[in-house]
Amino acid sequence: MREKVYVTRPSLPGLEEVLPYLERIWTSRTVTNNGPLVIELERQLAEYLEVPYISLFNNGTIALVAALQALDVQGEVITTPYSFVASTHALWWHRAEPVFVDIDPFTNNLDPQKIQDAITSRTTAILPVHVYGQPCDVYQIEQLSKTYDLKIIYDAAHAFGVKQRGTSILTHGDLSILSFHATKVFNTIEGGAIVSSSKELKEKIDRLRNFGFVDETTVVLPGINGKMNEIQASIGLLNLKSIDEEIQRRKEIYQLYQTLLQGVVGLRIMPLMEDVEYNYSYLPIFIEEDEFGASRDDLYYRLKNYEIYCRRYFYPLISTFAPYSSLPSSKRGNLKNAYKVAQQVICLPIYPELSNQMIEYICKCISE
Ligand SMILES: *Cc1c(COP(=O)(O)O)cnc(C)c1O
Repeated sequence: MREKVYVTRPSLPGLEEVLPYLERIWTSRTVTNNGPLVIELERQLAEYLEVPYISLFNNGTIALVAALQALDVQGEVITTPYSFVASTHALWWHRAEPVFVDIDPFTNNLDPQKIQDAITSRTTAILPVHVYGQPCDVYQIEQLSKTYDLKIIYDAAHAFGVKQRGTSILTHGDLSILSFHATKVFNTIEGGAIVSSSKELKEKIDRLRNFGFVDETTVVLPGINGKMNEIQASIGLLNLKSIDEEIQRRKEIYQLYQTLLQGVVGLRIMPLMEDVEYNYSYLPIFIEEDEFGASRDDLYYRLKNYEIYCRRYFYPLISTFAPYSSLPSSKRGNLKNAYKVAQQVICLPIYPELSNQMIEYICKCISE
């Protein structure tokens, strides 16, 4: 019997590597509250990612909410319907008003021209997402932020380690948010982070993640509990050691899929840009039903029958979910490209342990 294969599989260090860390945590009894392992992981991640400041969080969603709080975002916030639902949920928890804007069908990211068209006197911020680690048009978005005096918070949950023109994509905008959930390229089982550009902002963010405490008796902000614990940090320190090899293996897998699927009519793989160093976090393919001879859903269920469990990231669109479907910007006519892409996409399995043999089998099942 063939093994079941899922879209992703969490990378975990060997147990023998974890045990010394656990012993250290147990002996010291420092288990959370900005402990030495969290501080060390922050130091190593800032260096690895080539970013000035980073604050670790217990997950990416709380990091997003804290980022909105840190910049005191209010009113309307322009965002994408084509993402994981947490991007918009963070706005809801912050009581900001999501305004959905359509995507560019090639990058799958917010279309800057359509962002501009959606700006009103109530717009205070933009929350773009680097979907699948494909960089947003950060230069045009920066121009908009200057012209209209808008805050920019990038949801960079997919963009760990991604660089464009030799610099980290995480250095754009006011803040960038990472997720270290088990399904992401770099994981701490659950975890996240905010990348910031000044010492003052980092200090504010660090206070926000710890209930707003400045010292034992002083609370200056309505903070939250966003703290990463020492066990999460130890998994992060260990996973960071092998991240370069893992991304390299992901790249090989990506290229093998490209080679094996390039002749398949009606199937498109996300194009990669020349000036970008990717992390190969996802492998989205897009099915043009008429040419392919079957719909995306036909293929999705067919692969399921072969015990190949893909995911339709991102379908359905966030704008179709109950909390958001009645917003004016959720109208289908406003989001034509997003609707189309959401009907076409399947993310194929990609993770370092996936064997070439399995990839060949998956591609054979697709082209049949
Ligand atoms: C995973 C993810 C999040 C949420 O991160 P968690 O760590 O799971 O809370 C937010 N946005 C996007 C785009 C994601 O993929």
